[in-house]
Amino acid sequence: MLCATCGVEHAQPSGTCAICADERQWVPASGQVWTSLRELRERGHRVLIDAREPDLLELTVDPAVGIGQHCFVVSTPSGSVIWDVPPFIDRPAVDRIHALGPVLAIVASHPHMFGVQSAWSHALGQAPILVCEPLLEWVARPDAAITPWRGRHELAPGLVLHELGGHFQGSSVLHWAAGAGGAGVLLSSDTIHANPDRQTVTFMRSYPNRIPLSAAVVARLAAAVRPLAFSRLYDNFGRGPSEDASAAVQRSAQRYISWLAGAHDDLS
Ligand SMILES: [Zn+2]
Repeated sequence: MLCATCGVEHAQPSGTCAICADERQWVPASGQVWTSLRELRERGHRVLIDAREPDLLELTVDPAVGIGQHCFVVSTPSGSVIWDVPPFIDRPAVDRIHALGPVLAIVASHPHMFGVQSAWSHALGQAPILVCEPLLEWVARPDAAITPWRGRHELAPGLVLHELGGHFQGSSVLHWAAGAGGAGVLLSSDTIHANPDRQTVTFMRSYPNRIPLSAAVVARLAAAVRPLAFSRLYDNFGRGPSEDASAAVQRSAQRYISWLAGAHDDLS
């Protein structure tokens, strides 16, 4: 079963989904709704796959389920990695990913992106589900494939998870050095979230309920990605600066901090 609002699978659904009851999500006015993969299949949902750039597939569910995230599959010579997990699964998508070679890991940036990670793992030969240690308490469907990690974790040469925190303790990003033709890609989910202007990003504790982070935390997040080379960023809706993204992150963090510090109060 999965929560219809966040799209996260639950072994024993009861009461209200803990992820949605948290201040970083929301419960519908009509109350908690549970659904199942079978019900979604019967309603005609399917996984759409687009190639965003060489060795990078973008997965979405159509019609959207839950939050409607865009997930990614990065291919490397040693295997592929699923980054953020769709809240639905179907055979054509599994076959497409199988064809890329071994699945090195299935990993969500934070609990809102867990999707149906166990279902994907089971369909892909018990592929390891990596969960950053502080996020383990949010796992609602325990699975033998779940493997905790912390800090910095190299999945393949040049493909490295970084625990940043911020949005959640344990929120992470995936740095792919070979992306963007070798200029580097940061798969940032909403640990670092793209703004609609395509030039800047933001950082929040809660996106739907608009709760900010402190200046110290934003400075820490920006400092954590400063050493990483990347020209392009994709958030969990497939958006982000497509050039000079590293500079855009630093510039956006400085702007955010200056507003928090009151530097622009005369404009308010
Ligand atoms: Zn939920």
